[in-house]
Amino acid sequence: MAKFCPNCGTEIKEGADICLNCGKMLNENADSPKKGNSNPNAKSKMAAGLLGILLGTFGVHNFYLGYTGKAVAQLLITVLSCFFLSPVSAIWGLIEGILILCGNIDKDASGRKLSD
Ligand SMILES: [Zn+2]
Repeated sequence: MAKFCPNCGTEIKEGADICLNCGKMLNENADSPKKGNSNPNAKSKMAAGLLGILLGTFGVHNFYLGYTGKAVAQLLITVLSCFFLSPVSAIWGLIEGILILCGNIDKDASGRKLSD
């Protein structure tokens, strides 16, 4: 059975893993052997935790992890109160940042584990 490049439509030889016409990798959905089990799309635990601690008042860590509802809530608490209530969301974000760094929150919104 002939295969065709999803990028440019050129017919591809069986067994080839790169399109000779446009150079597109054809098996990018296959697990890449170079990184073992770690998901290359995994969000960084360290980055998410630090964002929560430093910028939690704007919900940045939740935007990062995809928890958009919580992120918007934290952002709105801060902005709508003209920063009057920003300590509330700052402490909320700080606690979440610590939970992320301690591993109590270890998944992003789509259920992918955070990388160390
Ligand atoms: Zn191609």
